[in-house]
Order: sequence, then C-alpha cells, then structure tokens
Amino acid sequence: MKNGKTGFSTRAIHYGYDAADHQGSLNPPIYLTSTFTFDTAEAGGAMFAGEQEGHFYSRISNPTLEQLENRIANLEGAEAGVAMASGMGAISSVFWTFVEAGDEVIIDKTLYGCTFAFLSHGLTKFNVTVKPVDMTDPANLDAVITDRTKIVYFETPANPNNRLVDIAAVSQIAHKAGARVIVDNTYATPVLSRPIEHGADIVLHSATKYLGGHGDLVAGLVAGSAEDMKQVRLVGLKDMTGSVMSPFTAMLILRGLKTLELRVERHCQSARKVAEVLEAHPAVLSVSYPGLDSFPQADLARRQMSDFGGMIPFKVKGGKEGGIAMMNRLSLIQRAVSLGDAESLIQHPASMTHSTYTPEERAEHGIAEGLVRLSVGLETAGDIIDDLMAALSQHNAIAA
Ligand SMILES: *Cc1c(COP(=O)(O)O)cnc(C)c1O
Repeated sequence: MKNGKTGFSTRAIHYGYDAADHQGSLNPPIYLTSTFTFDTAEAGGAMFAGEQEGHFYSRISNPTLEQLENRIANLEGAEAGVAMASGMGAISSVFWTFVEAGDEVIIDKTLYGCTFAFLSHGLTKFNVTVKPVDMTDPANLDAVITDRTKIVYFETPANPNNRLVDIAAVSQIAHKAGARVIVDNTYATPVLSRPIEHGADIVLHSATKYLGGHGDLVAGLVAGSAEDMKQVRLVGLKDMTGSVMSPFTAMLILRGLKTLELRVERHCQSARKVAEVLEAHPAVLSVSYPGLDSFPQADLARRQMSDFGGMIPFKVKGGKEGGIAMMNRLSLIQRAVSLGDAESLIQHPASMTHSTYTPEERAEHGIAEGLVRLSVGLETAGDIIDDLMAALSQHNAIAA
C-alpha cells in the first residue's frame, strides 16, 4: 500500500500504514509523547542539525501526526503534508512562512471570516499589503498582480456563498508573476477537487470540517511540495505559531478519513435534493448551489469538481429578519457554525462567521446580509427537507 495507484477510499483507509510494523495493530498506535530519546548525544545533535532523520520533539514532528500528514498529502496529490492545531493555525503558519515586510498578497474577495480578519487586520500590521480581488474573473488578478506579489490565496467553493475560482487559470497568471498559489480546499475536500492537479502550489484545510467529519475536533492540514512543507514545518509551525496538533486529534482525523468519500457522496446526494426543493419554494429568493443549472459558474463547477458538495447558501423572503425567523423554526437542523458534520447545521454568516467583515465590506465582497448557510448533514434527506419545508410553510404564511 506504499504507492498511490489504488482508489481514493483504499488510500484513505490504508495509505502509508503497515500493521506488521506495529505488532499487528489494525489502527496506528497513538504516540502520546512530547519528546523522543536519543541513542547518543551525538545523534541528538545530528537531528537538530538536520543531518539525521528522526523524531525528536512533538512540536516539530510525531509519528501519529506523520501518518496523517502522509495520508492527506497522498489524497491531495502532494509530496508532503503538515498537521496543525486548527484551520487558522494552518493558514497563519503558511503565511508567516512565506511573506516578509514589504511583500504583497492578493486574496479573493470572498473568504472565511477569520481568514479575512487575519489577512486584512493581522498581516497588514507588519507592512504586508493585502489586496482583495474578485477572482471569479481571472483577468482581475492579471490586472493587479506585480512582482511584489508573493501569494495568491482563495477558497473554491468559497465560504459562505459558494463562489468558485478557476484554479488553473489563476495559477497560470500567478506563476507568471512568480507568486505561490494557496487554496483553502475545506469545502470541496480532495474527494471533489484536488487543486494541486489544477496547478496550485499549496492546499490547506480546516480539518475541523469534512475531514474530521464528526464535529468532535478542531484541526488544520496543509499539503504541498516537500521543500515548501519543510519550510512551513520549520518556520511557520515550529517557531512562529507553535500550532501543533495533538496525537489524539490526528487519530480522530485518520478515523474520519476512512469514511470521507462515503460521507461526501452522501452529503452531495442530499444537498442536491435539498437545493432543488429550496429553489422551487416560493418563500426562497435564491439558492447558490454549484450543481443547479441556475448557478452562474455551473460550467466551471463541472470542469473543476466531480460533484458539488454539501453546502447550500440561500436567501429567503424578508431579508435578514426573514432568514433568522426561518432558522428559529427549525427543529432537526441545528443552529450552529462549522460544517461538514453528520448533523445538518445552519447559521447566519453576516452575524456569525462573517461578522469580522464590516457591513460595507460584506456588500462589496458578495456576502448578503440575508444569506443563511446550510451544511447538509448525513441524516435521511427526506427528514432534512421536511424540517425546511415546515419552517418555510409558516414563513410563507407570515410573508403573505
Ligand atoms: C472553518 C474554516 C476555517 C478555519 O478553520 P478552524 O479549524 O476553525 O480554525 C478556514 N477556512 C474555511 C473555509 C473554513 O470553513
């Protein structure tokens, strides 16, 4: 199982692990240790000098984390991976590794709220210029990129509105200018899209979401070239953020990955049904789901993704108040942020995940005040639909 020619789920379950190396243990043991002993003092010195391979301190590497890092790298088609304590730990560690004062970063206009806050309020304190650009048209990037641009960063589909970015087209423009392309692949997961295959340099995840998949952990993962990942580990992770994943968490994510393809298929199947029913409902103004014919970037979605995910942003009649009232009438679907769990979750981005934007910024960045964001879970699809229909039928009565 050492080479990656088998199918996705086979690799998600087996890649890089041989029970024979671990006393026959079906699952990888959890190496719950902060430090590792050296055979000799000289061997320890050689490891610190980078002249000898091996684990020596768990802020730098740990065998349980290494198992997970190799597996996510394989699933993303990357050479190497690094595990982090959270999605934000992964994002900040990567930026701190590759930018210096005076550099410029170009970001897509729609990003997860805390990513936007880190970049626009955090990085800019250190004399890094951050330029938001609407990358749904790659020509907009071409118009502003310079030789000072070190990183081009985006999400596709983007949180919360599902806007897509053409990874191949943007990567071509970025690489001509000498910039690294970094993609937050949290929404698509490597089941639906592998950005490195389309030309991106680094892929990262909030593993809190689909990869963990059970709402019981917070974690981040990064994958890319061996050289880039070495830098991210030794600069961003080791010295600048210290954002280390616990070995217990690594074990839970390894468990989650075993069913990732199975779960994502079901999320997609159910989300398509829910999106179609919502779109046909008179109380719903719009549904932004890449699998619907009405989706403005439906062609790109078909080119870049093998299916369209479990996330449905939609707007109901009555704007923000209408959306909030509808949310409060749901009984199966849970009111909570986060996504990709077995439980269907619903939240209101403008007052929750994207409250880090000012109302003016939200307007400019395509995040409508009335938008609600549904993460379609793994419950029976008919029950999710029934819950929404019950909430919307009352909505209709009130709106009429
Ligand atoms: C949740 C999320 C993050 C942040 O991840 P945490 O694990 O919460 O730190 C980053 N990007 C996207 C797209 C997310 O949904």
